[in-house]
Amino acid sequence: MTAITPAEHSDSSHHQAKHRKARALKPGSHRPAKELCSECGLCDTYYVHYVKEACAFLNQQIPALEAQTHGRSRDLSNQDDWYFGVQQQMMAARKLQPIEGAQWTGIVSTIAIEMLTRGWVEGVVCVQNTKEDRFQPMPIIARTPEEILAARVNKPTLSPNLSVLEQIEQSGLKKLLVIGVGCQIQALRAVEKELGLEKLYVLGTPCVDNVTRAGLQKFLDTTSRSPDTVVYYEFMQDFRVHFKHEDGSTETVPFFGLKTNQLKDVFAPSCMSCFDYVNSLADLVVGYMGAPFGWQWIVVRNQRGQEMLDLVMDQIETQPVMSQGDRKNAVQQSIPAYDKGVTLPMWAAKLMGIVIEKIGPKGLEYARFSIDSHFTRNYLYVKRHHPEKLEAHVPEYAKRIVGQYKLPD
Ligand code: FAD
Ligand code: SF4
Repeated sequence: MTAITPAEHSDSSHHQAKHRKARALKPGSHRPAKELCSECGLCDTYYVHYVKEACAFLNQQIPALEAQTHGRSRDLSNQDDWYFGVQQQMMAARKLQPIEGAQWTGIVSTIAIEMLTRGWVEGVVCVQNTKEDRFQPMPIIARTPEEILAARVNKPTLSPNLSVLEQIEQSGLKKLLVIGVGCQIQALRAVEKELGLEKLYVLGTPCVDNVTRAGLQKFLDTTSRSPDTVVYYEFMQDFRVHFKHEDGSTETVPFFGLKTNQLKDVFAPSCMSCFDYVNSLADLVVGYMGAPFGWQWIVVRNQRGQEMLDLVMDQIETQPVMSQGDRKNAVQQSIPAYDKGVTLPMWAAKLMGIVIEKIGPKGLEYARFSIDSHFTRNYLYVKRHHPEKLEAHVPEYAKRIVGQYKLPD
């Protein structure tokens, strides 16, 4: 464990005492966001005291937190800001030597390992899986490269990453990297100043359509030919879901062939009402959807994010982002089809997948396609299920994105 000075220790004890005293709600006993809770983990800690202000589903405050983190919020006269958030630069990248078993090429794990081994941070919040179940998330604060590596690959389920926050103060950590998805990072940014850290770095991934563990089983059972042997899946830029199985084989299923009618209720209500697909508040975002097939997509939001990326520049190849095609008709047509739960016969879905892959949106236009499709769907969901939340919960940039389309009532 890292040595801590008496001054730091008393500062940390002071923080703990403050939170314990301030605690009005018992950790873990309470989920004020109710069915919209994404299990981000905050309510499992004594920071539950801040939940009303901090929870992404109770208090949407993305513009204020962007200004706090990046020095400015989105410029609403710039469409790239609507879609991708505050950014200094974007690029496509992939590791020269991919990490085996990573979700894509392992850029996230590599940055985390470099930051730890060079002493930039003393710990990394990331999520491993339990021994019994490869898809059951187990958040940890990693203190060795091996522990970071063991957290590689997505656990495609709601994960209480912030549940480890109490351990920060207990262990005296002062420099921390947190890896996480948008709702976790929103709550983290809201309590950042209470954590007693000297330095916090945030490495985010985009996130959409997450599920509970039971929801994941339903998705696998209805979509894969062999649900029990799936070790990995991803919705990819070629409009197919790619599954990898234990024996190394790959299975692909076209998006348009998904059993939409059965899958409609599978996604968590939190994810059906989320408008932070691109992780607005991370310093650096690593995903795939704005990059060509096989490449990862990198969004540098601020100077801290640039420094994190600079650490691995000699281990990756990069190319500029590109944009091709026009998504608008495809999005408009998919809105009523999804709403009615239309499922195409598999031969038609495959055909449509092939056509759309040839002429469809690519690069940043694919990312816009995915953001438009999800934001229109989620806007309708909030309007129908939580009309009283619509005005304050949907950020202005998302209202402008949704406003480009005709929606059913
Ligand atoms: P790796 O080196 O394999 O590391 C993956 C990291 O993800 C690990 O550090 C782990 O701690 C963290 N992680 C795993 N599961 C979770 C979880 N449930 N919650 C929080 N952190 C987790 N990118 C897109 O462009 N579009 C998407 O629609 C999209 N959806 C995603 C949905 C989910 C639930 C997740 C977790 C990620 C999603 N991503 C999406 C990001 C993308 O799939 C890759 O995670 C990212 O490109 C990093 O790949 P990598 O090979 O560098 O990661
Ligand atoms: Fe608490 Fe997080 Fe759930 Fe909000 S999303 S109620 S902060 S655990």
